Amino acid sequence: MGCGTSKVLPEPPKDVHLDLVKKVEPYTGYKTDIYKHFIRGDGDAVKSAIPSPPCHTNPYVEQPEPRKNRVAKYRAKFDPRVTAKYDIKALIGRGSFSRVVRVEHKATKQPYAIKLIETKYREGREVCESELCVLRRVRHTNIIQLIEVFETQERIYMVMELATGGELFDRIITKGSFTERDATRVLQMVLDGVKYLHTLGITHRDLKPENLLYYHPGMDSKIMITDFGLASARKKGDDCLMKTTCGTPEYIAPEILVRKPYTNSVDMWALGVISYILLSGTMPFEDDNRTRLYRQILKGKYSYSGEPWPSVSNLAKDFIDRLLTVDPSDRMTALQALKHPWVVSMAASSSMKNLHRSISQNLLKRASSRCQSTKSAQSTRSSRSTKSNKSRRVRERELRELNLRYQQQYNG
Ligand code: ADP
Ligand code: MG
Repeated sequence: MGCGTSKVLPEPPKDVHLDLVKKVEPYTGYKTDIYKHFIRGDGDAVKSAIPSPPCHTNPYVEQPEPRKNRVAKYRAKFDPRVTAKYDIKALIGRGSFSRVVRVEHKATKQPYAIKLIETKYREGREVCESELCVLRRVRHTNIIQLIEVFETQERIYMVMELATGGELFDRIITKGSFTERDATRVLQMVLDGVKYLHTLGITHRDLKPENLLYYHPGMDSKIMITDFGLASARKKGDDCLMKTTCGTPEYIAPEILVRKPYTNSVDMWALGVISYILLSGTMPFEDDNRTRLYRQILKGKYSYSGEPWPSVSNLAKDFIDRLLTVDPSDRMTALQALKHPWVVSMAASSSMKNLHRSISQNLLKRASSRCQSTKSAQSTRSSRSTKSNKSRRVRERELRELNLRYQQQYNG
């Protein structure tokens, strides 16, 4: 969720408006993107089920090379120290400065994820420093574990635990049913991880569904928090106030927008946004225009209208309200959220109504409209960040996948 959005990275230049997203190399097309051939997981099975993107049929676009050559070319990007120890298997994620690949430890055959960050750009270096600083300190069942790090002049390779269960919303869509009880289960795990981080003086600052991954595809899988690129760790003697403007627009807390010093309660606001999405498939604050979006956030203006809200319990709404509280001092802490009756009772007093159909429909409707608006915005805007290009391509592919699954589920 939050597609069409880009991260707002720390400290924009003084004379630039908040929503400026720092740019790295613009996407230069399929010709030079050596990562293009790798898609989530092993890819081939998914690829064959989904119609090819239009660019594949464009005669003016270079056609993919044979897989063997592609893999060889791609591996060449990796430092020999890394490939001596790990077999590179597939690309599973990408970001502005990073690529995430699935690898296999040659000796133990154990699968891992390697996040490769380009550090020749200042932003890449900063993101990497924050991420490493945090990952080196944490050990918790709901937080992705760092295994080892390789460093070269231009890149950092972080070897991490591999989460194979997919992102939160992909799972909800494929699951076929989703109740308030399921939502409390997810939130309990995320809150446990966040409480642990906050106890260590760490604020994640970019909590959103894309950064919450299921550990394995099984029904009983735990959820893991990932992506600490924007995280802030309190140093000894520091007060707990932060000032840097960063995050993902739809999830940014009001106090960050007004540039007040803020605390770890910004993570709790983001959890309010996630809870709202989790129960409805819609965003509490949404507008293509950033100024209007930020205005909604500052007012804390959201509603419970439309499906499936009439079926959602008042206790669940109370939980969200206590997180989407504009004044951070009135907002629940992670500990308080864990003690909220809706979470403690695992929504025992709520109806066990299956919210899945409305949630999936809303998620798909939203993804589809975002794709349309991104396409039209593209024709009028020439300057695009790598991240936006990535988002568009990934979104379009995801939309095709989701539509397919949805059709299979309800029509087949
Ligand atoms: P970014 O800072 O660019 O958003 P992330 O750390 O969020 O980078 O990684 C991008 C994507 O890669 C994630 O959304 C997820 O799909 C995938 N990913 C990241 N880490 C892992 C991991 N440990 N296991 C499996 N997939 C991962
Ligand atoms: Mg991420």
